[in-house]
Amino acid sequence: MDSVWPDGKRCAASFTFDLDAEYVFMGTNPDVANMPRVLTQGDYVWRSGIVNRILDMLDEYMIKSTWYVVAMNAVNHPDEVREIVDRGHDIAIHGWIHEKISHLDRDEEKERRERCVGAIKDATGYTPVGNRVAGGEPSPNTFDILKEMGFLYDSSLRGSDLPYRLGNGLIEVPSYYEMDDFHLFADYPFGNYKARMMSPEAGYQIWTNAFDGYYRYGLCWTTMFHPQIIGKPGNMMLLERLIRYVKKKPDVWVANARMIAEHWNDR
Ligand SMILES: [Zn+2]
Repeated sequence: MDSVWPDGKRCAASFTFDLDAEYVFMGTNPDVANMPRVLTQGDYVWRSGIVNRILDMLDEYMIKSTWYVVAMNAVNHPDEVREIVDRGHDIAIHGWIHEKISHLDRDEEKERRERCVGAIKDATGYTPVGNRVAGGEPSPNTFDILKEMGFLYDSSLRGSDLPYRLGNGLIEVPSYYEMDDFHLFADYPFGNYKARMMSPEAGYQIWTNAFDGYYRYGLCWTTMFHPQIIGKPGNMMLLERLIRYVKKKPDVWVANARMIAEHWNDR
C-alpha cells in the first residue's frame, strides 16, 4: 500500500477538542443563560480545570492536538486558553459564541470571523489558521472568507476519509460523526434530543473499531471530543485507553489538524 503520510507512516491519527463549554447550547438558545443546570454542564469545564486535565494527559503521551475554541471562551478565560498554546497545541476558531452563521450576510460573517481571530490572538499570541463551523452548516461564503483571511484549513465537512482540497484551495481535514463524544455521552436538553448514557465500552468499541478501519486503509482518523464530556473523570479513563490503543499500533502518524493540513498542502 502506498503511503500518503510523512516518512511512509501507515495512517494519521488526530486528537481534536471543541472547546464549547457553556456556549454549546447558549449560542443558539440564549435562554440557557437563565438555566443554571444546563449552563453548569458547560462551565463545569472551568470550575473543574478540565482543560489542564486533558492537557496533562496529552503531555503524558506526547500528543500534539488541535483545539477549536469558541472565541468568547478566550475572552473570558485567557489563562486556560493560553495554556493550550503554551504546551504546543494548535488552536482554531469555532464561532464567536457557537452561533449559527449560515444566515449571515458576507460582510457580517467576515467581521465575526475576524473578531474570533483577534480574540484568540489577544489571549494567546497565536494566529489560528483553521476553522470548524459551530452549531450548524457553513454559509455559501464561509470557505471563500476563510481563504481571503489566509486560513489554511477547515474541519467542518464529512466528505472523505482523507483530507481534500476545496475548489478555492483551502484544505478540508474532515471530521466524523462516529468520533463525536456528544452523541454517546451528552445530556441534550433541547428538541428531540434526550439525555443518553452509553456504556464506556460502547465508546471504546466504536472509536477503536473506527481507528482499525482508518489504519487498515491508511487514512486520516480524527476525534471530535468536547472537554465537558470527554473530560469527566470516568471518560478520561476511556480517553486514556483510546490513546494507548492508538499509540500501540506501529507506524501511526499522531499529528494535529494543522500539521495534517500543512502536509496535505505540500503534496
Ligand atoms: Zn462546538
